[in-house]
Amino acid sequence: MSAAAIPRDGLAALLARERETFRERNPRSRAAYERATHLFGRVPMTWMNKTAAGFPLYLDRAQGAHVRDLDGHDLVDLCLGDTGAMAGHSPAPTVAAVQRRLGELGGATAMLPTEDAEWVGAELARRFGLPLWSFSLTATDANRWAIRLARAVTGRPKILFHSYCYHGSVDESLIVVGPDGRAASREGNVGAPCDVTQTSRVVEFNDVDALERELAHGDVAAMLMEPALTNIGIVLPQPGYLEAVRELTRAHGTLLINDETHTFSAGPGGATAAWGLQPDAITIGKAIGGGIPCGAYGLSAELAERIAARDDLDLVDMGGVGGTLAGNPVSVAAMRATLEHVLTEDAFAHMTALAGRYVDGVRETIDRHGLPWSIVQLGARAEVRFTSPAPVSGGASAAAHDPDLDDYVHVALANRGVLLTPFHAMALMSPATTQDDVDRHHEAFADAVGALIAAA
Ligand code: PMP
Repeated sequence: MSAAAIPRDGLAALLARERETFRERNPRSRAAYERATHLFGRVPMTWMNKTAAGFPLYLDRAQGAHVRDLDGHDLVDLCLGDTGAMAGHSPAPTVAAVQRRLGELGGATAMLPTEDAEWVGAELARRFGLPLWSFSLTATDANRWAIRLARAVTGRPKILFHSYCYHGSVDESLIVVGPDGRAASREGNVGAPCDVTQTSRVVEFNDVDALERELAHGDVAAMLMEPALTNIGIVLPQPGYLEAVRELTRAHGTLLINDETHTFSAGPGGATAAWGLQPDAITIGKAIGGGIPCGAYGLSAELAERIAARDDLDLVDMGGVGGTLAGNPVSVAAMRATLEHVLTEDAFAHMTALAGRYVDGVRETIDRHGLPWSIVQLGARAEVRFTSPAPVSGGASAAAHDPDLDDYVHVALANRGVLLTPFHAMALMSPATTQDDVDRHHEAFADAVGALIAAA
């Protein structure tokens, strides 16, 4: 069966049927959504309208690797807040630390440091290999601030990205390699402050020649990248690519920033430690706070020295690097507890093994039906692609996107008690995820794919 042989009429009818089931199964979520007339787009944040079913499930409660929706369904949560809940929902050590900080000790925010901060900095240094850390509340802000520092110390205007990357709402990053091979604004970009080609350069992932060409302009302050793309399907680096990135950025005086927000799934020290990478800076967020808003960026000793040597940079007051609530006592207490007790080396071993079980089960269903699909694993996360072999660049991955099939799998799984990330067919394992949870997914996936085949 080729991709074209997926029964399109049958798929449309099946999708309509699953959406109807979803409506019938979730009357309370639907009513809550319909009542939400004071929210722009009826949701707390417009991206929550990214739902294959027409309206989102409303959260009632969540524990470990499970969520319960407003209609009382228990779902195996493989979305895990798109990595924000990679530690599992409300892990006990994080809850205890946050309760203690907020309740017994008090001081959610006070413009004063707490001793937890140095502990977290030392732990991030141990894991990721960069010695000096600073905190933010989101990964987006960590990226924005790292970019500012890179521009400041290099005196260069541009940042280099991979096509179809995602680093949060960082204006500079919304750039793609267009159909004619030239850099262009990413489709749908909202309110760009200027033409993105003035601030940024772009290359396809795994394209060393393009990288050399773009860096040779000599105007690139930093390359901000995920060591594997994770937001356009998982696109893994081909052998030698990351080495070439490091060699070429060094040769051209460009700083290298690894965004480990999602690739943290590769191991306790992210892809940087797992693959022996040597970036000048690292940004991260989401998972390390166990669900409490947080972010961080780490600097090499050399980069920190270069920044500190610049007495014209105002890093203390009006420099535009920092937020009032960044590094607040609750956020830092949550990071400490999560790193010390939850996302440990043992936890990663468990999560990675489960992701392997997940991949095996999905592959079995794909192979049983001879489907031209693929699945890629990155430590504790894995993602199904409705194309084979798995794409090796962001552009190819975007082109292979199959929205109907994607929607069908999301709704069909939700109706069978399994939650996938709305923006991907991504599945993430937490320390609380069990083999039973993974097997429950396999049953649901096999059933949904079986229905698709039967519709052919
Ligand atoms: N970097 C990467 C690689 C991400 O995937 C994301 C969010 N999905 C971000 C940054 C932004 O994170 P936040 O929404 O916490 O700012």
